[in-house]
Amino acid sequence: MTQALFVVNAGSSSIKFKIYGVAAQDHEHEDLDLIMGGQVDGIGSEPRLKVKDQAGAVLVDDKFPVEQLSTLSQAQTVIADWVTPRIKGFVIIGIGHRVVHGGSVYSKPVLVDDEVMHTLESFIPLAPLHQLGNLDPIRILRERRPDLPQVACFDTAFHHGHPELSDRFALPRELYEEGVRRYGFHGLSYEYVHGKMEQIDPGVAQGRLIIAHLGSGASICCLFGGRSIETTMGFTALDGLPMGTRSGTLDPGVVLHLIEQKGMKPEEVGNMLYKQSGLLGLSGISNDVRELLASDRQEANMAIDFFCQRVAQSMASLAVTINGLDGLVFTAGIGENAPEVRRRVIKHLNWSGLFIDDMANEARLPGPQGMRIEGAHSRVPIYVIPTDEEKMIGLHTLRLLRLLKKH
Ligand code: ADP
Repeated sequence: MTQALFVVNAGSSSIKFKIYGVAAQDHEHEDLDLIMGGQVDGIGSEPRLKVKDQAGAVLVDDKFPVEQLSTLSQAQTVIADWVTPRIKGFVIIGIGHRVVHGGSVYSKPVLVDDEVMHTLESFIPLAPLHQLGNLDPIRILRERRPDLPQVACFDTAFHHGHPELSDRFALPRELYEEGVRRYGFHGLSYEYVHGKMEQIDPGVAQGRLIIAHLGSGASICCLFGGRSIETTMGFTALDGLPMGTRSGTLDPGVVLHLIEQKGMKPEEVGNMLYKQSGLLGLSGISNDVRELLASDRQEANMAIDFFCQRVAQSMASLAVTINGLDGLVFTAGIGENAPEVRRRVIKHLNWSGLFIDDMANEARLPGPQGMRIEGAHSRVPIYVIPTDEEKMIGLHTLRLLRLLKKH
């Protein structure tokens, strides 16, 4: 029977999953073949199961009554019930999970046991919203399938070991010792895209590289020698760029003002900064770049301009950290699909010798190898490369399982 891996990427109201086939005969062969992928989203509000095959054809798209699907555990049952009879020809050899926080402990993926679970739970205060949602499926699957190895892959791990100057806030030293550090996130995406860059142009991949992960969550990372040197997200996924609904970097005095002068409670401030700010707050229209670009309202245009200027400013500032630039990559929902955003971002950087080719920029992404969009006179190449965090998790899981089998 063909071996397969299950990858789970769970949030607070959704579970995304992918199932990959593994080439069992050739242990050196590392690639994974997507069998199917899908998600349950709207858990607790408008639950919906949607699954597609490897070619993107929809296999199921079902809505559920909210009473039937209001917890992550119920969502997992729905997924398991649907998937199990459809993968009869495969034997699942392990499960890989996305876990947002590896704290300052984990610099690479880890096989989950009781002790690891305990350590991961101790990071919940560092990312209350995300970490709980990530750990729930691991706990539930450990109960249901104790026979299957489960691997935790961290969003923070890629940034582990970045320089001290990138790791600190200008706050009293004891806070740093307590864990108030600039961990950084989106590490699985950066690692995947960097891996692609190694195939496309190894020289640039090893040089001074900036990768912009622009999705509904957004951050930018600068790398040198393939390692993360600095990134715009810090202690939480709230830092750095303005995002769909998150504020990004903010004068901390605003938070004090909201609490002291407006009498807002911490959870109200949290809700505002995570859910009502960013592009949604700026425009008052939508958090979705597609909608904002399609709108002819001035507020929509201003929100996009604001986003693009911040992206360009952050790129310039990260280039300072790595002392120049050899290549730039756009990735994730906005980075891959919004040529207008890429155009406006690079326009802000023309002074530094970066130029875009309009025709190339408007072209459809040809596939996983991505495309180049710089103009003939651009000082450095500019790439658009689709990210695939689930595949990165799958690859990590496979590597770790094979390593453990050898020992
Ligand atoms: P996440 O994985 O964090 O949910 P994605 O990387 O999928 O986010 O990015 C989602 C965002 O990408 C959407 O909110 C939307 O703003 C943007 N996006 C997706 N497709 C397009 C498109 N064709 N044009 C412009 N923006 C797009």
